[in-house]
Amino acid sequence: MNPCFDQLTQHARETALLNSVAELLQWDERTLLPAAAGTYRAEQVTYLSGQVHARRTDPRIGEWLSDLQAAQADLDPHSDAGATVRLMQRDYDKLTKVPQSLVEAISRASILGQQTWAAARKNGDFSAFAGPLQEIIKLKREQAEAVGYLDAPYDALLDDYEPGETTANVATVLEELRQELVPLVATIADSPRRPDLGILRRKFNIADQERLGKAAAAAIGFDFERGRLDVTDHPFCAEMGPDDCRITTRYDEHFFSTAFFGILHEAGHGIYDQGLRSDQYGLPPGTYISLGIHESQSRMWENLVGRSHAFWRHFYPQAQAAFPAALGSVPREDFYFAINDVRPSLIRVEADEATYNLHIIIRFELEQALINNTLTVADLPGAWREKYRHYLGIEPPDDADGVLQDVHWGAGLIGYFPTYSLGNLYAAQFFAAAENQLGGLDDRFAEGDFGTLLDWLREQIHRPGQCYSARELVESVTGLPLGHEALLSQLRAKYLPLYGLD
Ligand code: ZN
Repeated sequence: MNPCFDQLTQHARETALLNSVAELLQWDERTLLPAAAGTYRAEQVTYLSGQVHARRTDPRIGEWLSDLQAAQADLDPHSDAGATVRLMQRDYDKLTKVPQSLVEAISRASILGQQTWAAARKNGDFSAFAGPLQEIIKLKREQAEAVGYLDAPYDALLDDYEPGETTANVATVLEELRQELVPLVATIADSPRRPDLGILRRKFNIADQERLGKAAAAAIGFDFERGRLDVTDHPFCAEMGPDDCRITTRYDEHFFSTAFFGILHEAGHGIYDQGLRSDQYGLPPGTYISLGIHESQSRMWENLVGRSHAFWRHFYPQAQAAFPAALGSVPREDFYFAINDVRPSLIRVEADEATYNLHIIIRFELEQALINNTLTVADLPGAWREKYRHYLGIEPPDDADGVLQDVHWGAGLIGYFPTYSLGNLYAAQFFAAAENQLGGLDDRFAEGDFGTLLDWLREQIHRPGQCYSARELVESVTGLPLGHEALLSQLRAKYLPLYGLD
């Protein structure tokens, strides 16, 4: 191979080495760090992040890439080498288009935004957050202008999280989903059939929750030789090396679902990270495709597998043995109905799998309007309430449980929300394709066989890394472009019978 290619990839591997150290420090910060060590840890992480950014914008990368231009024409763009050159060029162009002063301004505004957001949320006072949010929106617009876009400034922001996807395409698919989901959710909400949620609110010893959660994560394929489960306030999954994936959860002694389904969700993310090719670590073929594809893996294991009848045919005896007092006399069907409760609610992170996407659609529509200047920050809380009334039939009593509930906008993460729904849409499409190709997935799950699905995911989704874009992967794996049909038919097939509506 061309010597420039070797220099380019060696440089990228060293950047990944440095970045993985920063990841480890950040995992530690969110799990074990003593309170007084926070300030110095912030300095450590800021310093390392600055070094990583400087390496990723190193002018030598531009020189190596331009020397590789001629060679690139002969490379298959989907081969490991082709994808490496193509995507490193893309990354380098994007990063070097944004002036250093703007990068720093966004970083400062995001730190201030998160601080003022936390205080404003605590006091339920949106006006205290309005100024910092206005500043973030202004800077994100400047970022979009610096990077450039085809159609709408929002395209440039979305591209940070879902490379190659467009606002127009996502808007079309989510609008089609919304039109059918709003009446479906309203019909379910009107059903007189309701689960007994008290089942899940009994006492569940935390040590037993941990044991059961780990058993479930291991059963679906999370490798504890190459990963760990720890406790945190806001659960996440982080990888800090090809054989080191950390998942986290939080326990509620009086609510079964938080930790159990949280662990399945984060294990789903971890299984994806563990399925990427170690020998390509730090290079595009060894990197996850997009946040939406990452979320498709967590959602698939959490919801399509973990909240299925078949999963609990296999797993319920273990849950009953872990919690004999709480679940020993509860019929499996009652437990199944309780973990699949659907009802319009105010808080996104607590929403069920059917209503969840409406929370996302609301945020996606509002943040586009903010970036496009068709909505002012002052009018945001009112617009929020109106959309909740319109799509979910409920209205938040205050801004703390309304427009102030998520950290994302204050943290400068604009264009991030739609990746959650993309994850659900991709998951439904991949799962339908897996069922089509493998057949009898339910019977396999009921027998405790999750490896058949895992092997399929490894081959189809994990191993290619970034050699294909999310859009290309969905088409090649499922034979169809991204659409709302698979998700909607999966929700109908599951919930209409459950609520006696079929
Ligand atoms: Zn997730």
